[in-house]
Amino acid sequence: MCGIVGYLGKKQAYPILIKGLKRLEYRGYDSSGVAIMNGSVKLFKKKGKVKELENFVGNSDISGTIGIGHTRWATHGEPEDNNAHPHYSGNKRLVMIHNGIIENYASIKSALIELGHTFESDTDTEVFVHLIEEIQEKENLSIEEAVRKALKQVVGAYAIVVIDRLEPNKLVAARKSSPLVVGIGEGEFFIASDATPIIDSTNKVVYLDDEQIAVLNLEEGLKIMDIQKTIVTPTVKELSLRLEEIEKGGYEHFMLKEIHDQPRTIKESMRGRMNEDEGWLKLGGFEDHKDKFLNADRIIFVACGTSWHAALIAEYTIEKLARIPVEVEYASEFRYRDPIITERDVVIAISQSGETADTLAALEIAREKGAFLFGIVNTVGSSISRFTDAGAYIHAGPEIGVASTKAFTGQVTLVTLLALSMAKANGNITEDYFKSSLVELASVPGKISEALKYEEYIEDLSKNINQVNNALYLGRGANFPVALEGALKLKEISYIHAEGYPAAEMKHGPIALIDENMPIIVIATNRSAKEKIISNIQEVKARKGIVIAIVPENEPEIAEIADYTIPIPVCDELVAPLISTIPLQLLSYYIAIQRGCNVDQPRNLAKSVTVE
Ligand code: GLU
Repeated sequence: MCGIVGYLGKKQAYPILIKGLKRLEYRGYDSSGVAIMNGSVKLFKKKGKVKELENFVGNSDISGTIGIGHTRWATHGEPEDNNAHPHYSGNKRLVMIHNGIIENYASIKSALIELGHTFESDTDTEVFVHLIEEIQEKENLSIEEAVRKALKQVVGAYAIVVIDRLEPNKLVAARKSSPLVVGIGEGEFFIASDATPIIDSTNKVVYLDDEQIAVLNLEEGLKIMDIQKTIVTPTVKELSLRLEEIEKGGYEHFMLKEIHDQPRTIKESMRGRMNEDEGWLKLGGFEDHKDKFLNADRIIFVACGTSWHAALIAEYTIEKLARIPVEVEYASEFRYRDPIITERDVVIAISQSGETADTLAALEIAREKGAFLFGIVNTVGSSISRFTDAGAYIHAGPEIGVASTKAFTGQVTLVTLLALSMAKANGNITEDYFKSSLVELASVPGKISEALKYEEYIEDLSKNINQVNNALYLGRGANFPVALEGALKLKEISYIHAEGYPAAEMKHGPIALIDENMPIIVIATNRSAKEKIISNIQEVKARKGIVIAIVPENEPEIAEIADYTIPIPVCDELVAPLISTIPLQLLSYYIAIQRGCNVDQPRNLAKSVTVE
């Protein structure tokens, strides 16, 4: 949540910051602001998107080669101009941007008010920068030393970048539980929440770790120390991110681009890990720690949101194929309920960004209890990927649309590969089943391309239901999490209330909601439960609900009773969730577009949830 960007070099900072903020806007878009150092500090901030900020800056003089920028996802204080970042300290010597939450800000604020500080915003961030100033002035410290001492007093999560007017040649940054990456260019430095604002200038980056402080200085280079003042030697990594990956590539929205990208991204998830012709599957993170998995008492997934749905699919698949008990937990609940975890448990975190605060905290608890930690993440070098004992990247590339699409199918691909790996290793499946499953998996990208061909039909169909207030998604088996994910997608981007249910649960409550205005989207691809699903559809029709059925091609029986059918290519149940998700993504997308919603940046949401 919230995007941070900073620049220090010889070029004009403002265009670099604005471009960076636009790339980071997926992380938050309540307000944005920049501060440029050029003798004095020039600070502009505005409620709304980065575009509003640009209009506000207009033709004002904003020259300068050192600066910081922020795009906010409000936690403390409404999205108003005064709460936008950057924030000044009381004497205006310091100016700071912050991502995260300072949990003890109220007590620090009271103490600072006693000392005579006054505040212009409702944010925790302003309190933080006043605290740094108070320490700096009292003890006459350098900015990095004042930051270091202030960090010892704050509780919570932060990624900050501070400018000190009296030390104008440096930027000081620090992080705890919120990501920060330093870009090292030719005679210039960048700092940002992720690498997207950096990639046009350099591919050399340093990821900061928790409780590290970085000092960027053109004369002295990059210095990193930890909160105890121990100097840390920076590890420079090379980025493999490409510019095209973070551009829309001719699509109207990132979400649509990412939906269409799935045949490619799923191939990427499987690349080098399996070969259906030669009949092998080798998931590095698993192979190296096979014993941990095969001897596990339980496999416990911790995740949030869409990733939690991918974990539910994993539960169906792993238990069915490998017969190892699986539990799926909301990370936010897991971390606070004193869960029973032992050294014989494997805890798997799923997170697109690899920065999800609740998921990271859940992993910390699991580590304390001695579990083996595995990460399934998208963002290379992210906190979860570094914290876990082993893991596997989904390799979907940057996902910019706030509503997850390709990351979800990447996660489902990975958990399916994991389930097959375990089942093969513990001998629970036959060689024939294993080999045919690889063939099925390899056919998924092509089948997704086929499923995408119904786009126009789905766009037309959505015109008939785009004015509804509620929708119900039903599925059985591994299609139940697909139903949950379909409902979440619709809620997120169209603001229509939607719920996902196991199809048979409908009669225990949701059936009361059904009338002629209610679309019921039935994911009816399970051949094994076809008769039961037909009965569920009949129950809906008897109450005049509008049935939209996702069915395998050549499925006349369901087509006859449903109001609309969206076909998907015939496939094995193992991979059906990957394919039946596609029409649900398109349906949400077109409904949202027709309702005039901003699909890439839905209200109140942000990607990469780095606050609790
Ligand atoms: N807590 C700060 C605020 O509400 C920072 C939020 C963010 O990460 O954008 O302004």
